[in-house]
Amino acid sequence: MPGCIFCKIVAGGIPAFMVGENDLATAFLDIRPANPGHTLVIPKRHAENIFETTPEEWHAMSDLVRTLSIAIEKATDAHGLNIKMNNREHGGQDVMHAHVHIVPRYKGDGVVKPLVQQSAYKTGEAEELVKKIRSATR
Ligand code: AMP
Ligand code: ZN
Repeated sequence: MPGCIFCKIVAGGIPAFMVGENDLATAFLDIRPANPGHTLVIPKRHAENIFETTPEEWHAMSDLVRTLSIAIEKATDAHGLNIKMNNREHGGQDVMHAHVHIVPRYKGDGVVKPLVQQSAYKTGEAEELVKKIRSATR
């Protein structure tokens, strides 16, 4: 996709510290890491977000996330690790080429917890929502 910074990294047009790849996905260090070793896993083909990835691309990304999480935790001596994906503008996505963040974490590192939990479900609300999710599942 012309103008996409991550497509340029895949094509070798701009430099990045590549940390691993498989047939459909690749991974490189985030240029502004939350902690050293913060890595982004992306599909090689341009897909804007999770909704545009194929099942095969998503499986390849997931597989690479798992393999690299194990390697990154070892290599960085992390105390914990977050996997995070922002989708669409209102999901906090800045770069519009799908990517999963792998973030090594340390005791007291001050990196914000990815999700701040809100209020509990009202009576019947969870059941209704589960019904909707199940009927929307293809
Ligand atoms: P998000 O807010 O989820 O869209 O995250 C985008 C991430 O891409 C940020 O953490 C940026 O630091 C990172 N980023 C942007 N440009 C580059 C680049 N050229 N190389 C590596 N990481 C980048
Ligand atoms: Zn792209």
